[in-house]
Parts: sequence; C-alpha cells; structure tokens
Amino acid sequence: MRGTAVDEARPTPADPAADDPGAGSAYAEAVVDLGAIARNTAVLAEHAGSAALMAVVKADGFGHGALPVARTALAHGASWLGVTSTAEALRLREAGIDAPMLSWMHLPGEDFTPALRAEVDLAVPSLAHLAGLAASAERAGLPAAVHLKVDTGLHRGGASPADWPLLVEAARTFERQGLLRVRGLWSHLVHADRPDHPGTDEQIRAFEAAVALAHRAGLRPDLLHLANSGAGLASPRTRYDLVRAGIGLYGVEPVHGQQYGLRPAMTLRARAIMARRVPAGEGVSYGHEYTTGRPTGLLLVPVGFADGVPRAAGGRARMWVAGDRRPVAGRIAMDQCVVDSGDAAVAIGEEVVVFGPGDRGEPTAADWADWAATNPHEILTGVGPRVPRRYLPAPAGRIDEEDSVRD
Ligand SMILES: *Cc1c(COP(=O)(O)O)cnc(C)c1O
Repeated sequence: MRGTAVDEARPTPADPAADDPGAGSAYAEAVVDLGAIARNTAVLAEHAGSAALMAVVKADGFGHGALPVARTALAHGASWLGVTSTAEALRLREAGIDAPMLSWMHLPGEDFTPALRAEVDLAVPSLAHLAGLAASAERAGLPAAVHLKVDTGLHRGGASPADWPLLVEAARTFERQGLLRVRGLWSHLVHADRPDHPGTDEQIRAFEAAVALAHRAGLRPDLLHLANSGAGLASPRTRYDLVRAGIGLYGVEPVHGQQYGLRPAMTLRARAIMARRVPAGEGVSYGHEYTTGRPTGLLLVPVGFADGVPRAAGGRARMWVAGDRRPVAGRIAMDQCVVDSGDAAVAIGEEVVVFGPGDRGEPTAADWADWAATNPHEILTGVGPRVPRRYLPAPAGRIDEEDSVRD
C-alpha cells in the first residue's frame, strides 16, 4: 500500500524542495510536509472556535495519504475524521485510528455490519438508507450512530425538505427501538468560497427549519454541522458544533480573495532523465504544438497525465527548473513531458518542481488548476498511485495558531 510509511528515521529539512534531489531513487515523488498539515489544522481549529474540527481525509487524504494526514490532524487540533465510504473508514480503523469518524456515501442495501463493528458513524440521506441501516443494525445487534443529512440547496445528496419530516419521524421510531441513535444533523453548502453570497443565509434558514422539525419529532442530536473549510474560516454562523475541513488542511486557501496563512503541504517533483540542446525551429512532442523559437535546452521530465500532470494544461503550464519557471513544451504525454529550459545550465538529474508551496516562485497546485481549467482539489487528488509519497514529519508538540501564521 502506498502513502503510509512515514519516514521518520531520516532527518529531513523543513523545505521539501531544498533537500537533495537525489535523496530518493524515484524519478518523481510527492513530498508531503506534515508540518504544514499540522499548522493548517491549527489554523482551521482556531477559526472553528468552540466547534470541533473534522479532518476530511477522503480520497486518500486528497492524495496526500489518509493515514499520515489523519494522525497529524488528530495530533494538532482535529477530533473527528470524515471519509466517503466504509472502505476508507475501515482502512483507518485497521491502522489503529480510534477517533470519531463519519462516512457519508453508501448504498442503502449494504451490509453495514463492518462499519457498525468499527464504530463508524454513518450519514443517512434518505428513508431507504435509514431502513437499510436499521435492518443491518438489527441483524448485527449493534446500534448505529447516524447523521441525518438534509438537502438545503446543493441538490447533490441529502433528503429534500419534502422528505425530511418522514425521515426524522422514522429515525425517531428506530431510535426508540434501540436500533440507532441520531447523533448529528447536517448539510453541505453551495457557496462556501464566497462568504457574502446570499445563498448561504438561505441554506442556514433551511437547515435550522430542518433542525426544528427534527426536535419536534423528538430527536436530540449532539452535533449540527454545515461548514466545510471555507465556511469554517469565513462564515461563523455556519460553524455550529463541527466544521468539516478538507482542502484547507492541505494548504489551499478556500475563500475567494482571502488569505488565512494556510500552507500547501504537497510538493510534486521529478528529476530530468534527459537534457539536450536543440536548434531553433524544432517541433516538440506529439503534434508538434510547440516549436522552439531559438536554440534552447530541452529537459525530459518523467511525469505525465498518469501521474496527475493534467494534459489540459499543455500550452500554458510551467515547471520550476534551475530557479526559474520554464514552459512545458508541447503536449503532456501519459508518462512524460518536455520542459524548455532555455539557456540554463542543466543536466540529467536536474530537479524539476511541478508544484509546491510557491515559496521560491515555483508553481502551486492552484496555478496548475488555472492552467487546466479545474480546481486545486482535482490537481491534488489526481497525483497518481505510482508516484511515491515521502513524508516530512510534523513537530511533536501542539502548534499554537499564532506561531502558525507566517507573515
Ligand atoms: C469534501 C467534503 C468536505 C470538505 O470540503 P472542503 O471544501 O474540502 O473543506 C466537507 N463536507 C462534505 C460533505 C464533503 O464531501
């Protein structure tokens, strides 16, 4: 299994890209700075105020490795974990993580026994899911802890306001029968990246109406939750009891036009496996969409779209080579791409940074997202399974938010 070995034996410098590019034997690697995850967690926890913080580690921790991210976040201010499936939840439990955990995507007819045994809370978005879960709980003889989800406008998951009264009544009935306990009520926001968007107020009103109905049905949930990273940082009224933070943990600023001092945790880097000089007028890569304008250097970089370097970014993308942002020359292929290194003195083995925190001027995942017309989430989760992850350890103690905000 990839992405789980935290390399703590070998001391590593704080700047992942500053160490020896020859440190690993891999052509390419994703270096995950757990210190950044720790600081980002502290920032998010501080802004969550009295609400608890859930570290969302779905999709293998947004590509960073669910287990090391979970351990780091739990040590630095998160108290819950969020995943999308029972399979993701069980992998964390098997690795010894016993923190409260919510999993939110299921088929109604699943056998929930493994999740119930592992004490994983389950999201319930419909009557069918509720009935399936109650049946599993009865068979297993284990009561389920559920978080009923109401759709307040995203129209992606959750019970519609029309179905909600029936869902809460049925949940209360199952609760009385001892088959489950409703621990949470929750929903998900549409415009969390725009704190002044009026849609959020509408969703808050819809959510609170749903909560009132649940109370009238006799439910007494401990946890109301609505906010993701962006809302947790910028929309205090959405925080309630728990903030579900994903992208912010990984260091991508989630609120349009605002900086909270979050630091990108992942650096994707490779080593050039060829370096050559070519004359002016040479076409490069499939279809010759790039032509050298003058005599220049070309570096062959052993990462391509199978590694998460988006093909759609070809023509705009840049990589960091010898202290400069250099253009990716022509189409990005499955396993490789070419960088025009200009007149820089570079050789085989030269470090090429695809993206990183941006400190030195290297592109960030957000830059790649712009070039590929997508979001940073897709860039981070797209880093392929054959790219080994290497971990820079987080500091042992708790980080105060004041220390974490760099100026
Ligand atoms: C992914 C996800 C989150 C985390 O959102 P971010 O914007 O990444 O912080 C929270 N809640 C749900 C339901 C999600 O699917």
